[in-house]
This record gives sequence, C-alpha cells and structure tokens, in this order.
Amino acid sequence: MLLIASNNAHKHQELREIFGVLAPALRLVTPREIGLSLDPDESADSYLGNALLKARAFAAAAHGKGLWVIADDSGLEVDALGGRPGLLSARYHRQAPDGDGCAALLTELRGVPMPGRTARFRAVIVLIDPSGAEQAFTGLCEGRIGHGRRGLGGFGFDPVFLVGTGPRMMAELPPAEKNRISHRGLAAAQAVAAMDD
Ligand code: IMP
Repeated sequence: MLLIASNNAHKHQELREIFGVLAPALRLVTPREIGLSLDPDESADSYLGNALLKARAFAAAAHGKGLWVIADDSGLEVDALGGRPGLLSARYHRQAPDGDGCAALLTELRGVPMPGRTARFRAVIVLIDPSGAEQAFTGLCEGRIGHGRRGLGGFGFDPVFLVGTGPRMMAELPPAEKNRISHRGLAAAQAVAAMDD
C-alpha cells in the first residue's frame, strides 16, 4: 500500500491515474482514508526539501502501518522570469488577481516573443519505504508559455503551457497523454521502477 503524502485533491487524482497505469496492482491511499490529519509545512528552499518535509511528516504519522509513502513538490520555471515562479508556483496563483495565475503570467510575459517564452515544469518525488529508506526522483517537462490560454484539462498553469514547441497546450491533452509526458508522470515512473527493485 502506498500513502500519498498530500491533502491536495488534484494530486490524489493525478497520482491515482499515473499509478493506475504504471502499477495497477498497487493500492494507493490518501491520508484521510487511513485517518491521518496533518498539514506539514512546506518552508524548505528546494523542491527536494519540501517533498522530504511532506514525506517524512506523513511517514512518521503512519509509522508502524507498513506503508510506502510518496510525496511530490512541483512548480513552473519560466526562463524570461529568471526561473520564477518555481518553488512559489502555488503561491503565485493564490496571490494573483482573482486567483488567476495564468492571466498574471500572460501579463508578465506580454511583448516577449515566442523564442523567449521557454519554460518547464519540474517535479521532485520522494519515496519512503516501510523501513524508512528514502529515495528521490526528478521529472522535467519542457515547453513554452503561449500567448493565450486554451484547453479545459489539468490544473494550475496547464492552459498556458505549450507542450514542447506546441501546438497543444497541456490542458488540451487527455489525462493519459499528459501523464505519459508530464514532469510528475516521469518522476513517478522512476519511483515505480524503484519499488520493483
Ligand atoms: P505544489 O507542488 O503543491 O507545491 O504546487 C505546485 C504548483 O505548481 C501548482 O499549484 C501549480 O501552480 C504548478 N504546477 C505543478 N504541476 C503542475 C501541472 O502539472 N500543471 C499545471 N501546474 C502545475
């Protein structure tokens, strides 16, 4: 059994879809499903640090239950913004007018021509095995920020993220296709391989 060290419903859904394909026999559970209620802080200065904080907090709370634990931390790095919003991507949405981080990003990049709009999603996944051994995996998904928004799928910056050199936005991909190429899907594939070792 694998515990998802997150209270975020979007993450539960994506990780369930990803693991459903990569490891169909594996049972995933959320903290609530096993009666855990905690909200670990995410104050580290790196994706790895934050993923470790979350994974360790949930692993400690689930101690003795014989579970594997997985946590991820992720963000969008925009080259024209020196890598922002990066680690602070979730906060970028919260602090944007009307909570619309996509609109705020399009405004910040107004006038930047396509070659200068390169960006990538980065995910770091930490896996803790039932004995407490920790491993970390990174997944990257390269693309560009479009000049507008399209698509209804995914979450966060998906409607403005052109996959590769386009033409489709991440939010236009069916979930199974997003999960095959996404930062989170690529990091999860490494975690699944490690669980099989
Ligand atoms: P955290 O990993 O929960 O700290 O949040 C990551 C933030 O990065 C999200 O709130 C989104 O803004 C952004 N992000 C991470 N992964 C994705 C993705 O797959 N699509 C769109 N936005 C993402």
